[in-house]
Amino acid sequence: MIVTKRIAAVAAAVGLALSGFAGTASAAPAATTDLRLIAFNDFHGNLQPPAGSSGRVTLPNGTTVDAGGAAYLAAHVARLRGQAPNSLVLAAGDNIGASPLTSALFHDEPTVEFMNKIGTDASVIGNHEWDEGYAELLRVQFGGCHPTDGCQFHQPYRGARFPFLGANITFDNGLPAVLPVTVKFVDGIPVGIIGVTLKDLPSVVTPEVVKGFKFGDEVQALNRTSRLLDLAGIRTQVALVHQGDSTEGGGPDDCRTLPGPARQIATAASPSIDAFFTGHSHQQYNCVVTDPAGKPRPLIQGASFGRLLSVIDLKIDRKSRDVVRTATVAHNEVVTRTITPDAGVQALVDEAVAKAGPIANRQVGTITADLVRAAAPSGESPLGDVIADGQLAATQSNQAQIAMTNPGGIRTDLTYTGSPAGEGNGVVTYGEAFAVQPFGNIMQTITLTGAQLKTVLEQQWQPQPNGTTITRFLQVSSTLNYTWSQSGTQGNRVSGITVGGQPVDPAGAYRVSVNNFLAAGGDGFTELAKGTNLTGGPVDLDAFAAYLTANPNLAPPAPTRVTVIP
Ligand SMILES: [Zn+2]
Repeated sequence: MIVTKRIAAVAAAVGLALSGFAGTASAAPAATTDLRLIAFNDFHGNLQPPAGSSGRVTLPNGTTVDAGGAAYLAAHVARLRGQAPNSLVLAAGDNIGASPLTSALFHDEPTVEFMNKIGTDASVIGNHEWDEGYAELLRVQFGGCHPTDGCQFHQPYRGARFPFLGANITFDNGLPAVLPVTVKFVDGIPVGIIGVTLKDLPSVVTPEVVKGFKFGDEVQALNRTSRLLDLAGIRTQVALVHQGDSTEGGGPDDCRTLPGPARQIATAASPSIDAFFTGHSHQQYNCVVTDPAGKPRPLIQGASFGRLLSVIDLKIDRKSRDVVRTATVAHNEVVTRTITPDAGVQALVDEAVAKAGPIANRQVGTITADLVRAAAPSGESPLGDVIADGQLAATQSNQAQIAMTNPGGIRTDLTYTGSPAGEGNGVVTYGEAFAVQPFGNIMQTITLTGAQLKTVLEQQWQPQPNGTTITRFLQVSSTLNYTWSQSGTQGNRVSGITVGGQPVDPAGAYRVSVNNFLAAGGDGFTELAKGTNLTGGPVDLDAFAAYLTANPNLAPPAPTRVTVIP
């Protein structure tokens, strides 16, 4: 980044001098034209300003600033566009899916309308755009009412006024399943925008939705598509990549990324590509990588939830129609909430909030008493039991034998009297279920050995640097039983593990369902990240709601799965 800034400063000084000279000499057209690219990634339907840490951006000095909200994002886009003669608005995927209720209830139609309103020119398909499969993605793209829920937001839903791209998404026969590229004309110069999604998409969605499709290598797809643009004389080329790197912290414009797939892609892909917008890892970074021809190009990501806008300013040579790479300037702009929100987008958000109310009150099940998060001395809670049972039931097609969930993902109790509306008859509404499991985590089933399963259970006790031990009790399905000892030492507390009533064989293989957070080793459960044969499942909320619907008059389970001994 330091290098870019220096190059940019020199380029800006040279640019000023040249334009001054041109002004006094003749009225010849400028040799270059400026194009500002404004992108966001992993918006996840956050129409309302996201709350808590999801609504804050960490600055280079470690302090945070409140950020995000569709109406603020729209106002910032308008401001950024106003500063540039030409601009395009782009999205790096996961704009929809795993969304808050306000967007999710309407199958994210309000979010697509928001993206239409701010003039989005193109988006790549993220894994969450594919959550509900190809037919639903085509409906989101081209419009029409949802096959089961109909048109609940606007009648009719008119679709996206921008293409969803995926150059590496093909049918099994190799033919493209979606548009690989789109071309926009800017000041008479064609700009090719290529989209590629993560080749590992099948591992993070339900197996059913990827049947009949192939998700190919990102670099190969970029190169194949870039070559087509080369042949057509389209020299300015931009990549939207729904794949990202991790970071070891830093502010929005730092480049403290760890070696990862995005850098690998951006370093290896065709030198014809001038800039890389990335996503998926929800990180903030602003890097410069070297292309195979030795020239610099930006690699940027803007956190998530509409908290940052990634801005890349390109200078394009009119004669060659290609980008003057050394003049490229990139930065991440914080979507602050101190700007006047866009009135049109605010009206759209308000409408979604108002219309969500009645739908949130749809009944999904009934309970006979409160299902609470409060745990027995063993660590087991009635609500945790029910959620784990629901996750097991929802992943039967993955051959799941047990399910385990993290207590931190269970956000509130499910009460007999219900939400503030207080229907008081044990009815559970969709809104109440959503409040319990709001994160939109996706179920994943992995294979663990019996020995690994024991290690996972031992990892519920987590020694801290200050000498204390934190306990995080996983909530387990009825098919998993074990005993733990209060006097046991680290790594030696758990015994008597059974799966389906059978003692666990340390060398045996067991299919275990957890959410994607745990499967990645979240909450200190690092052993879960070592699972093999990962298969995707449904969103955790859908698993929970389906279980409540399938089991009316559900009573709180007795805490008999985990036994605690002195
Ligand atoms: Zn993603």
